[in-house]
Amino acid sequence: MGQGLSCRVQDEHGLFTAVQFGDLELVKTLLEKDPSLIQQTTAYDRHSALHIAAANGQIEIVSMLLEDRSVNPDSLNRHKQTPLMLAAMHGKIDCVKKLIEANANILMFDSPNGRTCLHYAAYYGHSDCLETILFAARTSHVAASWGFSRFVNIRDGKGATPLHLAARQRRPQCVHMLLDSGALVCASTGGYGFPGSTPLHLAARGGSIDCIRELLAWGADRLHRDASGRIPYLVALKHKNDTCAALLNPSSAEPLVWPSPLKFISELNQDAKALLEQALMDANREREKTILKGMGYSPPSPSHSDARTTDDNISEVSETELCCICFDQVCTIEVQDCGHQMCAQCTLALCCHNKPNPTTASLSAPVCPFCRSNIAQLVVAKVKVNADDHELDLYSSPKLPKTRKSRNFSEGSSSFKGLSGVPSFGKMVGCGSGRISVGNECIIDKP
Ligand SMILES: [Zn+2]
Ligand SMILES: [Zn+2]
Repeated sequence: MGQGLSCRVQDEHGLFTAVQFGDLELVKTLLEKDPSLIQQTTAYDRHSALHIAAANGQIEIVSMLLEDRSVNPDSLNRHKQTPLMLAAMHGKIDCVKKLIEANANILMFDSPNGRTCLHYAAYYGHSDCLETILFAARTSHVAASWGFSRFVNIRDGKGATPLHLAARQRRPQCVHMLLDSGALVCASTGGYGFPGSTPLHLAARGGSIDCIRELLAWGADRLHRDASGRIPYLVALKHKNDTCAALLNPSSAEPLVWPSPLKFISELNQDAKALLEQALMDANREREKTILKGMGYSPPSPSHSDARTTDDNISEVSETELCCICFDQVCTIEVQDCGHQMCAQCTLALCCHNKPNPTTASLSAPVCPFCRSNIAQLVVAKVKVNADDHELDLYSSPKLPKTRKSRNFSEGSSSFKGLSGVPSFGKMVGCGSGRISVGNECIIDKP
């Protein structure tokens, strides 16, 4: 998989080459001359013109071919791959969209590995294609007949879910998107990789610290054993991924975990949610630094850990806008309906303290720490900068991920762990570092 499509063989009419290179006029001419060519496939791989166009991102040709009623959008090649799978494999997002518009089936399985287009997008790390397919799954017949969360956790022939593949292939953005869509963080594979591996085992093997961070923040269990009894820590050590091993070491500090799926979280305002996620990731980064420093490592990679430019604006914010709980961070989250404000870190800590005890299983929604009224919703607070009467909606930055559509928080969360054992959350966040700034990049969305 992943190789370019070679179609110069057995192409005496020149159609496949013209399709590959996007020569629309020539393709039209050839098809006018001999309409039966449209049903031809390459001799060995049995790629149709549509396969070749989709794999090469030739969107005009894909569109033209799909206008022809006789062209099946789900035609199969030698490996039972559809044009949609090839477009997802090669990251040709326009073609993925076009094919889905043309009712291409997202629930087809190839023959070598029993994988779907979702597996392909996850494996090759094309998060835009992944997102489009997930969106289609929510809205298409698949959601009705299969159920969306079943589709997200769809297994290939060896029991690997898209999350397993993304973790193994070091695709943190896809890992994040899948988790956010309800992927099971603790699913075990059948025969893929080492039997009984969880996504965390596979990330440990792949050596992606970003994937490990995502998985841990979603409650992946560091003590889960694969079929041979190995925990992810041992897998990381075996593959000499020392930095990953440091974080996976059961004796190093527990990572913070995204609060358990309280009902109100799944209805969370998207921007507020992005803020809270960032606060959680920031807290975990600080923790990682401590762990790694203790072990004599420098932070893994500047491009990931310290890429944000700090913005000095924040230092000029007057005392009065500071969060009244920690007196350290700026208020960025507003509680509705009462309108009280606090910082993202404190909000997160508040939710975490309300983590349901699995033994009692009675969920109680968090209350506002100021007035004890129930929290109906959390939104991004408008923050005044420099007391300028210059209102700035800091978090409407276009860089914030707008793509979260989580509805499935409550699924697959059996291993969520609370933060209630974590004292002085605000202190651990390494505060006052001006990380709340206009135009800040949302690191968790970086590849
Ligand atoms: Zn605070
Ligand atoms: Zn209140």
